[in-house]
Amino acid sequence: MSLEALYQEILLDHYRRPRNFGVLKDADVHEHGVNPLCGDEIEISLKVENGRVADVRFQGKGCSISKASASMMTEAVRGKSLEEIREFVDEMEKVLKGEKEGDPEQLGDLEALKGVSKFPVRIKCALLAWKVLEQGLERAGGGTGEKETT
Ligand code: ZN
Repeated sequence: MSLEALYQEILLDHYRRPRNFGVLKDADVHEHGVNPLCGDEIEISLKVENGRVADVRFQGKGCSISKASASMMTEAVRGKSLEEIREFVDEMEKVLKGEKEGDPEQLGDLEALKGVSKFPVRIKCALLAWKVLEQGLERAGGGTGEKETT
């Protein structure tokens, strides 16, 4: 199986069986975003405990790339600190735009998205979930202060 075929398999698998699909009740962060170019819509809810993502869900509609990316994103951010996530979003943006190779170990399934860097229209699809995530964290205002119980 070629690498490209393997990546295609991973994307389709996330598209057909999205991980963490749905909405969290009593979420701390709730954010929604659209990619008008393609008609993709993603909604993310996050539960934050002690400055880390304790739980995450997404729902949305759109093309396979936007959904697969969102599904992978939820798996990648669970358990990470908000600071780590901000760095990771930056990293993903560079990887998706083809500006950076990225660390295969850190990327995991997300490697499968690297192919979009050749298709500028698709980059927006793949980035949507990450942009929504970033927006949500910003709106939360780095707002882990009142939640910290150290
Ligand atoms: Zn799309």
